[in-house]
Amino acid sequence: MKISDVKEVFRNIYNRDARIYIAPGRINLIGEHTDYNDGFVLPAAIDKHVIYGLNENGSNKYRFHAVDLDQTFEAQAGKLIQADLGWPNYLMGVIDQLNRAGHDIPGFDAVVTSDIPIGAGLSSSAALEAGLATGLNEIYNLNIPKLDLVKLSQRAENEFVGVNCGIMDQFASVFGKSGHVFRLDCRSLDFEYFPLKLNGNGIVLVDTRVKHSLGTSEYNTRRQECELGVSLVAEGNAQVKSLRDVTRDMLESVRERFDPVVYKRCDYVVGEIDRVQKACEDLVAGRIEDFGEKMYETHEGLSKDYEVSCEELDFLVDFTKKDPDILGSRMMGGGFGGCTINIIKETGIPSFRENVSEAFKNRFGHPPLFYDVKVDDGVRQFYE
Ligand code: ADP
Ligand code: MG
Repeated sequence: MKISDVKEVFRNIYNRDARIYIAPGRINLIGEHTDYNDGFVLPAAIDKHVIYGLNENGSNKYRFHAVDLDQTFEAQAGKLIQADLGWPNYLMGVIDQLNRAGHDIPGFDAVVTSDIPIGAGLSSSAALEAGLATGLNEIYNLNIPKLDLVKLSQRAENEFVGVNCGIMDQFASVFGKSGHVFRLDCRSLDFEYFPLKLNGNGIVLVDTRVKHSLGTSEYNTRRQECELGVSLVAEGNAQVKSLRDVTRDMLESVRERFDPVVYKRCDYVVGEIDRVQKACEDLVAGRIEDFGEKMYETHEGLSKDYEVSCEELDFLVDFTKKDPDILGSRMMGGGFGGCTINIIKETGIPSFRENVSEAFKNRFGHPPLFYDVKVDDGVRQFYE
């Protein structure tokens, strides 16, 4: 759906004009399972968006319409309660956080649509939150700084929706910059942009369309394994608070006290935090091939040491190794399904898609989906 369609839908339902806000989804080039270890990630906003039509309505009611689901929802200012529908909670969560920060939010109307695939790991949820938070901030002249919009969007998802997400997704949706990735320090929330010069290569996501149910419990287990590793290293180094503070040498020196499984989990995370730094050096030096190689290393670690991959993801990454047009490939996100992210020579994209589609379907019974993405700006008001 185009922006002009959102305006029209808004006008048809509410008989007024809307202000338009667009909030992107995100990719993460490298730095996986590093966020909750106080490490670095390297995300970027993409050219897939949630589009909002928004405007005040002069009442004490919030009225939402989700075009893609053809569903409508109403809530009353000051009386927000969790909805069974699901999606209104992302919106109410934002209002709830604004309220908690001391801002009254009078009634408004919202039309929302999106071309970010839902649940594929491109953070449609964070875009929903960042888009509304930004729109309401401007419409009601709240003057909330961008970083606070990021934080309250995350808390909206944590507290109102009840999803224990990190801060990267909302960060990327707000601070994304066209042509750039940014390295986010998940401990300090400092960040730095790096130009992503792809030199004739494109970014293609391949969606397995599977989500293995193991995901949530394994995620919690990984977090515990990391904490256990930190506590072992911290016994001799009181300044160690997270795997961010741990080096390979420190790990090695206490290796005999580690359970081998916990050791390899920690070894992956420590290596990955370091790899993000080196990958940024590659970008600065224009070494996109070396950058791609590091994506393969990340996947290897996630698959063999961190053990959060699955057959479908491994199949897709292995398949790319036969294709000389592919510079890098890895699973993206928490794991156990979702997408791989691939850097591919532009000219090789059509044949890659065709070949992998066929092979994947033969093996798993259904073809994967493909999303070509470009690195784009963060959330903004759209003016004609
Ligand atoms: P993702 O990886 O895409 O963020 P999540 O499970 O975190 O997946 O969030 C997906 C949820 O966000 C959906 O179940 C729905 O409630 C909401 N959502 C996403 N896109 C839309 C949309 N276009 N319209 C309404 N709700 C949406
Ligand atoms: Mg999400």
